[in-house]
Amino acid sequence: MANYFDTSLEFLKGVGPQRAALLQKELKLFTFGDLIQHYPFRHEDRTRFYPIHEVNDLMPHVQLKGKITDFEIIGGGFKKRLVGHFEDGSGGLELVWFQGINWVMQKIKPNTEYVVFGKPNRFGNKLSIAHPEIEPLTSGNEKGGFLQPVYPVSEKLKSRYIDSKFLSKLVKEILKGTQSQIRETLPAAVLQKHQLIDKRSALIAIHFPQSHEQLASARMRLKFEELFYIQLRLIKMKLVRQEKFRGIVFNDASILTRFYKEHLPFPLTEAQKRVIREIYADMKSGKQMNRLLQGDVGSGKTIVGFICMLLAIGSGAQAALMAPTEILAQQHFNNLKKYADLMGVTIALLTGSVKKKARKPIHEMLENGSLKILVGTHALLEEGVQFNKLGLAVIDEQHRFGVAQRSKLWQKNSDVYPHVLVMTATPIPRTLAMTLYGDLEISVIDELPKGRKPIKTMHRYDTHRLQVNGFLKTQVDAGRQVYVVYPLIDESEKLDLKHLMDGYESISRAFPDVAISILHGQMKPEAKDFEMARFVKGETKIMVATTVIEVGVDVPNASVMVIESAERFGLSQLHQLRGRVGRGAEQSYCILMTGNKLSADSKIRIGTMVKTNNGFEISETDLQLRGPGDLMGTQQSGALDLLIADLGKDGEILKQAREEAQYVLEDDPMLEKLENKMVRIQTESAKQSAVNWSRIS
Ligand code: ADP
Ligand code: MG
Repeated sequence: MANYFDTSLEFLKGVGPQRAALLQKELKLFTFGDLIQHYPFRHEDRTRFYPIHEVNDLMPHVQLKGKITDFEIIGGGFKKRLVGHFEDGSGGLELVWFQGINWVMQKIKPNTEYVVFGKPNRFGNKLSIAHPEIEPLTSGNEKGGFLQPVYPVSEKLKSRYIDSKFLSKLVKEILKGTQSQIRETLPAAVLQKHQLIDKRSALIAIHFPQSHEQLASARMRLKFEELFYIQLRLIKMKLVRQEKFRGIVFNDASILTRFYKEHLPFPLTEAQKRVIREIYADMKSGKQMNRLLQGDVGSGKTIVGFICMLLAIGSGAQAALMAPTEILAQQHFNNLKKYADLMGVTIALLTGSVKKKARKPIHEMLENGSLKILVGTHALLEEGVQFNKLGLAVIDEQHRFGVAQRSKLWQKNSDVYPHVLVMTATPIPRTLAMTLYGDLEISVIDELPKGRKPIKTMHRYDTHRLQVNGFLKTQVDAGRQVYVVYPLIDESEKLDLKHLMDGYESISRAFPDVAISILHGQMKPEAKDFEMARFVKGETKIMVATTVIEVGVDVPNASVMVIESAERFGLSQLHQLRGRVGRGAEQSYCILMTGNKLSADSKIRIGTMVKTNNGFEISETDLQLRGPGDLMGTQQSGALDLLIADLGKDGEILKQAREEAQYVLEDDPMLEKLENKMVRIQTESAKQSAVNWSRIS
């Protein structure tokens, strides 16, 4: 027999082809199983009836039992409304309708018992409920005693009378037919260890709980299950890849010893040393490495990247570094070249703007193996670029690259795969990292080099602009450079562009003797590069710009970052922008300019920025404020479309679920044991789920 839960909704009592089509289109619900997993996002508390004299306007929702004594129409035109005087013996309040008045008058009878549900409000000394839910008192609802599920539905569905109530009836219908159909999906040992309720009870209780406690147990169980299977799949992918893909073995570290002895420019931080050890262990393991290296701006990822490149080169292979923009590629090249020259290692830069003639020798040296390090942009992925033996690919600022591009770089070796190290300065909260990159190894540099002066962050209101300008003047006079950044969320926003231009003009007026650059997305690329280059060289002292300067640009002499309308930026973005300063020896500053009125969220964002420089702390707060879907770099990832778990809140469950998945796979990698049979069936049946797990590297 085909699985009951795979039955099309069309065949459910009360649905039929037309409603089934609507449910498909509006909510992507196709089968019984889909609907059962369309979990309510809250429950209305119908456990009790409130006597009206206990009701006040602070209560979120109340359920009442009583009669309408009479109706009255008040006002006319826009303000016309129907008022029903509702009483229950303990007191009275008004039920109010602004729309559908005729319908209510026809359907609702005075002096008949009704159950009413809604949010109480107070106007003057009168309590009222606007557009209450109202239904006749029946033997089914007279006792109360239940939590009514509330489902996400679209306006379109509501207009066809497919509302939350209707869905709850359908769910009930499906559950009625499932006596033996709901199989357990978690191993008994896991259930017991984590005191989780069984699947069947959980599915019933998530929709129709008898109590708040039962609802909580159901949610816990289903979240655990969801996260468990996500982690199981990710860990399995990793194991399979490690099993299948050989990596080149790099076990000659003599070149490293020489670098450490003769040329290391500064002592490495403990975090850098730890990360290098982790990477080295991978690179000599014979298995192909896929590792994410996270570290805040300025934590010193570049030298770590270089040291790993040396490992590859020391064993006769080549290394590549790919950056998302020309400017960044150029900067990486400049930085790496310093070290490479000391070590006598050949290095070249390849970007879109390198002329054909100059490319030829690069291609040749790459192919015959005499070129050891190639730094560049997407240009590295072009057809003509053939490595002799690519041993390590370092990819900077991962989230700007698509999957396809990463795998392309990967395939440059035909027999064995290069090790891949992805570096990102966008700190990702642990829960997100485990989910987005759960198939990668993760290394974190969580320590800044010693002696770094932490950036001082201040919040100033627009009304104090004169003082701020005065401060900027002292900095410019002392030879420093300044960024002034304006929000330009959508580059086509005319108003934002106007603010930027106005800002540029007022700064030009305030600093008549100072050379000022301007940079925004509507400028031609050459003009942008030109302005950026002037600022990098120190020819201009103030850079007025939109967020186009956000990524990676390194101007050590720039010591002040002014962010205009800071309340309009997300936390991660503010942190990224702040990271543009604090790269030199001088004390650096970040000034957040805002209007006087701030929303509660804005206050938290600004307050967090002032309080801490720690990128991980900031990304955690950002996750709490915005939820995972809006964090930088996670937008296109289907991996975050979770049914019930919330990565912002369920970190602890995630951790346990991942550990449990790890145990299961360590003990039984192919899921062959009897006690894991259900796990295997479940992973196989969930293969065609909407989530795209095919991401590699
Ligand atoms: P990011 O992680 O942002 O890429 P970089 O690699 O650019 O950081 O390093 C930032 C600066 O810190 C560079 O000037 C680099 O030379 C310096 N640096 C890196 N590691 C150390 C260290 N252990 N001690 C002192 N300075 C360091
Ligand atoms: Mg960097």
